[in-house]
Amino acid sequence: MIGASWKTERADAAFQRLMAEKKKFQAIKGTRDLLPPETELWNRVEQMAREVFGTFGFGEIRPPIFEPTELFARAVGGETDIVAKEMYSFEDRPGELPDFKRESYDFVKAVAEATQLYESAQIPQAGLNKVLIPLLALKVEKYSSKYSGPLTAEDAAGIRKLVFDIISGLNHLELGPHLSLRPEATASVCRAYIEHGMHALPQPVKLWYTGPMFRRERPQKGRYRQFYQIGAEVLEMVPPNQDPAKNIGKDAAVDAEVIEMVMAFFARLGLEGVKLEINSIGDRDCRPKYVELLRVELLKVKEKLGPDSQRRIETNPLRVLDSKLESEQAIIAGLPKIADHLCANCAAQYAEVKRQLGMRGVAYAENWRLVRGLDYYMRTTFEITAQGLGSQNAVCGGGRYDGLVELLGGPPTKGIGFAIGEDRLILSLQEAGKGGAATGRDVFVAWMGEKAQAAAISAAQKLRAAGFRVELPPVEQKFGKALGQADKLGARFAVILGDDEIATEQWTVKTLADGSQAKMSEAEFLELLRKSL
Ligand code: AMP
Repeated sequence: MIGASWKTERADAAFQRLMAEKKKFQAIKGTRDLLPPETELWNRVEQMAREVFGTFGFGEIRPPIFEPTELFARAVGGETDIVAKEMYSFEDRPGELPDFKRESYDFVKAVAEATQLYESAQIPQAGLNKVLIPLLALKVEKYSSKYSGPLTAEDAAGIRKLVFDIISGLNHLELGPHLSLRPEATASVCRAYIEHGMHALPQPVKLWYTGPMFRRERPQKGRYRQFYQIGAEVLEMVPPNQDPAKNIGKDAAVDAEVIEMVMAFFARLGLEGVKLEINSIGDRDCRPKYVELLRVELLKVKEKLGPDSQRRIETNPLRVLDSKLESEQAIIAGLPKIADHLCANCAAQYAEVKRQLGMRGVAYAENWRLVRGLDYYMRTTFEITAQGLGSQNAVCGGGRYDGLVELLGGPPTKGIGFAIGEDRLILSLQEAGKGGAATGRDVFVAWMGEKAQAAAISAAQKLRAAGFRVELPPVEQKFGKALGQADKLGARFAVILGDDEIATEQWTVKTLADGSQAKMSEAEFLELLRKSL
């Protein structure tokens, strides 16, 4: 006996150790598991997007989750926080390459190998490698020639320098393309528009998407490192020789319809406290002049600004307007406003967007400080906030980005789009008590006896085929226990199948809400279920 208990203790200790080790696995900071019943709400939201966007003529696009880093750098802008600090990037090196980044590598052999890989295009032939490979060959040649004769102290120093340069060069070789997890999806949609020649389709092309985005931000409520967006884009190639001024009315109507669509989506979901803010940030003509003016004015008050804003005077003065710092608010209020510096075309389009929103019954407020964090926007920008979200209350951001497709190597193309933060949308719906029902079951099929199991399986099959959520216990249970479990699962009805029920073909049906019980045929039960939906 003593031996047995000792063995049990040992097994127990081993089990505890295993569990302790297992506990170490946790979702990475800023990421999370979405679980039932919450996932039902996520599905309902995505289904509603599909339906509402479908009524506006949008088709779904599912771009990949990673793309070349360069795509985001070019589209979103190298100076933005997203690209400069927040992307999850990696070198997609094939597994079979030698590890050049190992310090102890025989570097002469390594340079020979790298050169061979470069010449046979097994490592990228563009970018840094183009410069590094010939340079490395040269340095190795120099190293070999110096190493052969008797050495002076000067030679030794020279050799040390050469070795350092070679190892450092090897460490900087690009062994594969630089990729990034997407921080947003507009760049991907534009890339896809170009890659698939969508300019040849009837214009405009209207696409929507949903899926995870990745940004290395400081996690907090409503801000995650893996978060989800639902977005839409309208892309339209500009025919050659088109006078841009001629299409102001058309562009404004497209902008207003896109905004109307998001607002219709939010209304259908019952999102509360929805506020739309709009602005125009000008175009290639007028914006640079305004930015310059802003820079000059900001320099005059530089000493009164915080370090972030001071830095932005140089990198991106518009972003100073985004500042939430209390001490900067009065200073910002006195800065020149872009609305007073728009060129004639931008001013006309902005006025028309406002008129179009009015015609569509979309309420809005103007916010001249709304500049948005991404470089590609021009003219119309907008942001939508909702209640119950604390400081991270923006649920949607969007704007016009004519010229982005061209910047990415496509034909001259107009674009407007938005991205909704799905996590925040869900949070706001939950805060307003619109979280939706728990998973629950429609029917719990309790059975006892071999014959009853066959009948229970067949009943479950029919009920599931009719679309009802059914729980069928895998082993027989006493009816009392089965009913207790049915209750815990939130089942609406329990069907009880025992010898009597099989013999008479009359099921015992219990309504769990009020505890009432009745006998009925299978057909009668199906009828009851349908009616009680
Ligand atoms: P942006 O792509 O930065 O214009 O953001 C569009 C929307 O995505 C925002 O209004 C937010 O609702 C949402 N969003 C952006 N970043 C995050 C994040 N780190 N976590 C959760 N939602 C985010």
